[in-house]
Amino acid sequence: MTHTRVLIIGSGPAGLTAAIYTGRAQLKPLVIEGEPSSTTDQPGGQLMLTTDIENFPGFPEALTGPELMARIREQAERFGAQLRVSKVQRLDVTSRPFRAWLTDDVEPSVSADAVILATGAQSLMMGVPGEERLLSHGLSTCATCDGFFFRGHDIAVVGGGDSALEEALFLTRFASSVTIVHRRDALRASKIMQERAFAHEKIRFAWNTQVVEVLGEDRVSGLRVRDTLSGDERVLEVTGVFVAIGHVPNTVLVKDQMDLEDNGYVRTGVGSFTSIDGLFAAGDVQDHVYRQAITSAGSGCVAAIDAERWLESQGL
Ligand code: NAP
Repeated sequence: MTHTRVLIIGSGPAGLTAAIYTGRAQLKPLVIEGEPSSTTDQPGGQLMLTTDIENFPGFPEALTGPELMARIREQAERFGAQLRVSKVQRLDVTSRPFRAWLTDDVEPSVSADAVILATGAQSLMMGVPGEERLLSHGLSTCATCDGFFFRGHDIAVVGGGDSALEEALFLTRFASSVTIVHRRDALRASKIMQERAFAHEKIRFAWNTQVVEVLGEDRVSGLRVRDTLSGDERVLEVTGVFVAIGHVPNTVLVKDQMDLEDNGYVRTGVGSFTSIDGLFAAGDVQDHVYRQAITSAGSGCVAAIDAERWLESQGL
């Protein structure tokens, strides 16, 4: 079993910024990055599924999510963070040192004096018939990953936030048309994204429209939708569907062991302190309000400073 003073779980902007700070504090953090096979906890987090980032300070020219994560990763390694591509299967935070299992073994793989939980969030699904069956068969949650396969298709993007508009704008590179299906008559997305979407010739809007079923046998052949005002149903003729309706936090490792908010996010008090002494939380796993790359990175910094001071106060 490896012992580390700081175990960081997750390698999005929160986890890796925490790694930079704890690395510079000579704590030699161990970062469990996640696994590339998974779209939900892959190394680099959700930014790996993001196209251009235009609002991260210091990069006046946009850079891509993967580029940004590669740079932050390199910076973390420069200060001595050990990064391991693996997944935490189980975490015990009921007693200290905390213990983490990276395999199915009975014995834990890692013990840690402090843990920074930065496991992020993952896409919310609509929960309608056909959705699960047609996932990866014309239905996707990631335009960056799958957009290329939809060259010449008519596509629907479900949602009215920044994610939906970002996906829709990206998909115009490939699609013949993109219809944004939104359950209300006003978008939640930022004004600049709205303006871009409204101005784009390939983007249309289906307002006050709720998806009731994803149609198709082996591949998506359409969407059954309902007008939320009249109740009328119709079929939207699309061969691709991208779901962008928000996220749920990745709390499976800790949810039975600590205090969560009513909406399932990890409850943090001042800074990154959680209900468990020595366990700190950063990024989207505890932030359901801001959820930006920069706020996530900022909270990773906060968690690192909190963990460093806490370790010192404990004489660890
Ligand atoms: P979001 O802002 O929570 O928007 C989710 C959208 O999906 C809302 O329009 C919501 O409708 C709709 N929705 C939720 N559940 C639904 C359901 N069951 N059926 C149909 N529609 C449903 O989530 P997000 O777009 O993923 O953005 C999350 C955060 O990341 C935001 O703070 C956003 O600004 C940020 N973000 C920023 C960028 C950028 O700056 N480039 C890009 C992506 C995300 P209602 O509006 O009716 O609630």
